[in-house]
Amino acid sequence: MFSGLGYSQTSEVNEADLVLLNTCMVREKAARKVFARINEIKNEIKRGRSRPASDNGLPVFGVMGCVAQAEADRLFERSRDIKMVMGTQAISRLPALMEQLDKGFSRVIDVRLSKESEFLELEASSRQTKHIAYITITEGCNKFCSFCIVPFTRGRERSRPADRIVDEAKALGEQGYQEVHLLGQNVNSYGLSGRYHGNLGNLGNLGNLGNVGNPASAPSAQEDGDEITFAKLLDRVAAESGVPRIKYTTSYPRDFDEEIVRVMDAHENLCEWIHLPAQAGSDRVLRVMRRGYTRREYIEKIEAIKGARKEISITGDMIVGFPGETDDDFNETMSLVAEVEYDGLYIFKYSPRPRTPAAAYADSIPEEVKTERFLRLQELQDRIQRRRYERYLGRTVEVLVEGTSSRSPSDYTGHTRCNKVVNFPIAAEALGKLVNVDITGVKSHSLYGEMAGDCV
Ligand code: SAM
Repeated sequence: MFSGLGYSQTSEVNEADLVLLNTCMVREKAARKVFARINEIKNEIKRGRSRPASDNGLPVFGVMGCVAQAEADRLFERSRDIKMVMGTQAISRLPALMEQLDKGFSRVIDVRLSKESEFLELEASSRQTKHIAYITITEGCNKFCSFCIVPFTRGRERSRPADRIVDEAKALGEQGYQEVHLLGQNVNSYGLSGRYHGNLGNLGNLGNLGNVGNPASAPSAQEDGDEITFAKLLDRVAAESGVPRIKYTTSYPRDFDEEIVRVMDAHENLCEWIHLPAQAGSDRVLRVMRRGYTRREYIEKIEAIKGARKEISITGDMIVGFPGETDDDFNETMSLVAEVEYDGLYIFKYSPRPRTPAAAYADSIPEEVKTERFLRLQELQDRIQRRRYERYLGRTVEVLVEGTSSRSPSDYTGHTRCNKVVNFPIAAEALGKLVNVDITGVKSHSLYGEMAGDCV
């Protein structure tokens, strides 16, 4: 979009006319990081000042992403340097914002949220990632888990039409992409909330969102009628795209079903990896989190995955220290992790997010208890992970070579089909290719090996 407006990208901050900060708010201190980063950039510019930039010698600073959506015009109040605030659904309206700046408006903002907002359609050739392409299939979320800010910052769930997703995947396959990732907050609810044709109007910024948080008002597939399920979408992308490796994230346990596993088993190009966050192991906590499933139901989904023809890696997310979490609740989380034996686990200490129901729960857990539980769970997962990774010793795995390792310039780095990092000595011109690697070593979060034969 920027190239269409005559801009080009620079890695030199002193050459930049515009600096856009993309932000995430799932965890704490996101807004603070924006201001700290702007100051860092300003200092960098002062040190290396070599050009007469706009009036004050500074580029235009813009903020996009969830912090932009949630903080909206408060960002202008807190930093005079910020001239543009672009909410999560405003990306496709970027040219209009830039035009306003060009016309001389001192500050521009677009934080409209609407069910009708268009998905950003990108030409395959305009992508900047060379070997892996990310395809958005759903945006927003209707789940309203009590801890999560996503429905407020990214709006209601919308599914992108299947034909457009399949066409995009095909175009990427034709361009030579070896791997695509289908992306969404909850990919499994693809199509379930339909494509909404009604008008929710301008939902404004976070401050106005208090009354749109009723999941019951979400339109259903029946109302919409022309959607396909996630399993069917996966089937189409696998069959029609010609892309050798297809991954997807994030799965939501309540909407994850055995049909997805059957489709994964049916197509070789669907990779052996599922990210299925449980968030907690105790039914009581799951209920207060409003996750919509029990521990038993979660385990049943895990059993279906483990029963697949393919050997599928399972990863997840867990929150420790959720308000009111007792020792018994936490032990249930420990035992769930031990039972599932995740190949990887992201552990988060609970932190209250503005406007979410859990932020108002009184019975918060002291920071030191959260830390202690975090470390215990981490220690358990490390032991499990070590075992899980050691299984690969002596095996040959397929790796997509994504680049040179940042830690060791003489090594290539890439991911397996089951999404594990593999490093190996640079052996041939293999960048962007699929290669077989014999695994000879195991670290806590990566595998090490040697290239076996030629590229796949
Ligand atoms: N949509 C996915 C789901 O609901 O399973 C994941 C979305 S979220 C972007 C990524 C992870 O951040 C969550 O799975 C959760 O573990 C963590 N997270 C979200 N809100 C949090 C909070 N208030 N405190 C701590 N961790 C949080």
